[in-house]
Amino acid sequence: MSKEIEKKWQEKWKESKLFQSDHDERKKIFLTVAYPYPSGAMHIGHGRTYTVPDVYARFKRMQGYNVLFPMGWHVTGAPVIGIASRIKDKDPWTLDLYENVHNVPKNEISKLEDPEYIVKYFSTEYHNVMDDMGYSIDWRREFRTTDPTYKKFIEWQIKKLKKMDLIRKGNHPVKYCPHCDNPVGDHDLLEGEGVGVNELTLLKFKIIEKNDNDTNKDNGDNINTANNVKYLVPATFRPETIYGSTNLWLNPNVEYIQVTSDDSENGTNGETWVISKESFDNISNQIKDLKILGDIDPETLIGAHIENPVTKDHHPILPASFVDPEYGSGSVFSVPGHAPADYIALEDLKNNKELIEKYSLKDIVNKIEPLNVVTIKKYSEIPAKDVIERLNVKNQEDPKLEEATNELYKVEHSKGIISKHIPIYSGERVSIARENIKKDMISKNQATIMYDFAEHPVICRCGTKCVVKIMDNQWFLKYSDEEWKDETRKLLRNENIIPAEVRSNLEYYIGWLEDWACSRRIGLGTKLPWDKQWLIEPLTDSTIYMSYYTIAKYLKDINSEDLNDAFFEKIFFDNDINIDTIDKTQLNSIGANIDDFRLKVDEDIINEIQNEFSYWYPLDWRLSAKDLVGNHLSFHMFHHAAIFPPENWPQGMVVFGMGLLEGNKMSSSKGNVILLSDAINEYGADVVRLFLMSSAEPWQDFDWREKEVVGTKRRLDWFFEFAEKIESIKMNKNKSSLDLSNIERVDLTRKIDLWMMNQLYIRINDATTALEGFQTRKALQDSLFLLKKDVDHYMYRTKHLLEDPDEALIFVLSSILESWIRILSPFTPHSCEELWAKYGGEGFVSEAEWPIKYQYFPMKCTPTLNLKVDSCIPSEVIEKSEEMVQSIVKDINEIKKIVDVTPEKIHVYLAPDWKWMLYRIADDVGKPDIGQIMGRAIGENIHDNKKEIAEVAKKVGREMTKTRYIGKIDEYEVLSDALDFISEEVGSEVIIHKDNSYDPQNKARNAMPYKPALFME
Ligand SMILES: [Zn+2]
Repeated sequence: MSKEIEKKWQEKWKESKLFQSDHDERKKIFLTVAYPYPSGAMHIGHGRTYTVPDVYARFKRMQGYNVLFPMGWHVTGAPVIGIASRIKDKDPWTLDLYENVHNVPKNEISKLEDPEYIVKYFSTEYHNVMDDMGYSIDWRREFRTTDPTYKKFIEWQIKKLKKMDLIRKGNHPVKYCPHCDNPVGDHDLLEGEGVGVNELTLLKFKIIEKNDNDTNKDNGDNINTANNVKYLVPATFRPETIYGSTNLWLNPNVEYIQVTSDDSENGTNGETWVISKESFDNISNQIKDLKILGDIDPETLIGAHIENPVTKDHHPILPASFVDPEYGSGSVFSVPGHAPADYIALEDLKNNKELIEKYSLKDIVNKIEPLNVVTIKKYSEIPAKDVIERLNVKNQEDPKLEEATNELYKVEHSKGIISKHIPIYSGERVSIARENIKKDMISKNQATIMYDFAEHPVICRCGTKCVVKIMDNQWFLKYSDEEWKDETRKLLRNENIIPAEVRSNLEYYIGWLEDWACSRRIGLGTKLPWDKQWLIEPLTDSTIYMSYYTIAKYLKDINSEDLNDAFFEKIFFDNDINIDTIDKTQLNSIGANIDDFRLKVDEDIINEIQNEFSYWYPLDWRLSAKDLVGNHLSFHMFHHAAIFPPENWPQGMVVFGMGLLEGNKMSSSKGNVILLSDAINEYGADVVRLFLMSSAEPWQDFDWREKEVVGTKRRLDWFFEFAEKIESIKMNKNKSSLDLSNIERVDLTRKIDLWMMNQLYIRINDATTALEGFQTRKALQDSLFLLKKDVDHYMYRTKHLLEDPDEALIFVLSSILESWIRILSPFTPHSCEELWAKYGGEGFVSEAEWPIKYQYFPMKCTPTLNLKVDSCIPSEVIEKSEEMVQSIVKDINEIKKIVDVTPEKIHVYLAPDWKWMLYRIADDVGKPDIGQIMGRAIGENIHDNKKEIAEVAKKVGREMTKTRYIGKIDEYEVLSDALDFISEEVGSEVIIHKDNSYDPQNKARNAMPYKPALFME
């Protein structure tokens, strides 16, 4: 398929406005797929994402639905800002990515220094490639999320949510690059993609002088002076273990510093903290005005004591190499009873004579015993010891240590109870006590909150280590609001979810989601109407944009200033706002003025837009990728639940898997991608489409393998050859070419013709069912691969006719081609239009009816989904008949091989009526109960010879477990019909006997229903 031909059809579709959908009387389908964030070129992974909805849209159009498949560009957010500045800085990695992976021409590269140009460049590129793929998009509704009209739509939404009290103010930790001075998303990272931010409790341990009762202070620095109390501040996930603390770990090989700040809200409160130098960047982004007072040598601290902030016990400071200076504040408090790492580190230290001597720790270390805090069934008082011993962890470096830690963390969190001897919290579940202890310590200034990455390092593209920064006065969507969650759950209950297992993920996320920071300082986007220093972040401005598609084509002619709250309220809810009833005190808090509630658009236009919206809404299907379930897809449900009434809630969701390239994860930033435009140039859009749709179901991960793509191309070539072959058969017969719009009907009598039409019907039926559930792969299995197998079989069975075809053969072959072009057209639309036009199809095949409705099946009745209609030849009888023909040929050839002679004649004997009756009785009985079958057979008097009945009943009993009884088949008719074929296949004369008048070797008695007996001579 040449690119010119594909282009030709794309032009023709465009000229005929084939995919422009307006509201009318027909039933509608409205589907959307996640609109792309175009900051790079489209690759084959995107190809799959956007081909699935196109296939479905095309399929539904052929079924007679009015289908709307729109597209827009999600260009808000910060990533392009970073890209633009890196291009400006001539960052070699970024330049290489854009020149060589995204294929941006050299003369365009410098223009990408402007973020607006990046989104313009790539959304144009996306649009063009989508056209090249043949997507049936209604481009009149195209928009970018930075369009002034879209911004008005976003302003209206956010004001509405604020008014509903679903937005609040607060502080918020974000991933941040200190060098770029900007929050970073996964897009912006060189390392640490997807790493989460953990909330830790930072506990304040007061450092007391070395050797409390020692008056000789020579060997210790002047650690504390009266007005300068120092603290070590280890951070933990498990503040409740403070009761089991026995010592504190410092790493003698790490640089430590002393810091302080005056931040009273969340900080040191004027205290001096000792932290590792490497943790300063992170902590100083969370505590205001953190100042470095100077270095401190850890050697001077080891052997000294600290005071437990809660129990007030004194614990020694001990050396440990496992302490990571980057994590938390670079120190760890030790809970050997419940933390396997602490337990083993203590054991290691006890055995390390060198360290013990160096710091004179002998007496101190020997005194330390693990303490119990938490009680768990089946564990001893010291659970850390149990786990260490069971898993046979040898030392701190043992990789099994992590498993031990994880196991104990999980068990204690879910099943642990605070032990009896612990004050206040005894008897509480660990998960509850943990929160209570944390709150209590914070209120007493014994602890504070800090944030850290779950894993290190997290590195910005600029090469700088990222930190967690607290952003002040941030705005939050209140996803933790229980009422809002309940409405969203209600929405989910009424939505179709494909694949079904995603439903529980969505349920989980609805429950799990906390308040979401919905504003950012930097990026492209819409400003918060009531606090204009903030931009609305890109997950928040893409929640109900599907409703915008329904009206987008009208908005282009309206002044964006007129798209105010009154407009959207009227369009979406038919709300007429009475200015007099507006609470004017509220206006300020949502950033509105009274004019926003005066309708400024003409009523005629309003009516038309309203009609369009109410025709297309609710959304029928939302398609998206599985990595967006926890954000985009959940938010989409939350916001629909808040803003729209239940009758306009989304109806269905399909969630996609990911793309692999030759077995590896696709990634633009790692250069492991094939651009969609390159793939189209190499193979043509239809081959790309066919491969993407046939290699996996949408929710499975697919793997682009070049060898298989080439194989797909051969399939499509074969289809063209098949069409040509039929054309030549037709020409051969009656000197006229194929005319698919005028296939001459023939009443079929030959069994094999009926069989072929029946198979065609089954394949179409199965493919239809599969497509209804978005199973593109299964649909192609049925409609391409299995159907091709059937056609191959048919052509083989009729090979003796191909030289001199009859009308029936031509009818069957033309019918196959005619339906086949229709069923494949959603998948390979260009090829199908070309074949359709070439062989006389009427109009566009894209507009033709889906074949299941377009009936010409030759059965005695119109087939329906349930083929067992009285007057029909049941489908399974047709199938069974052909199966019999095939097994006779197979049986004869096998016997011939064994006896190694070519018989002159082969006699075929058929089962007499009474054996069929016996089979029917056995089927009635439903199990191989010979006694019962015999009894009924004798009762019905089906045969005189009881001995024979008994013999055959046994056989039937065995047979019925393998072969289902489907009624009596006229075997004589079936086999006579195929006699030429059978004779040719076995190379002998075949005689079918109606009775046993010629049966020299008494073989006829072996004949069973569906299994004739054979005699060769
Ligand atoms: Zn940076």
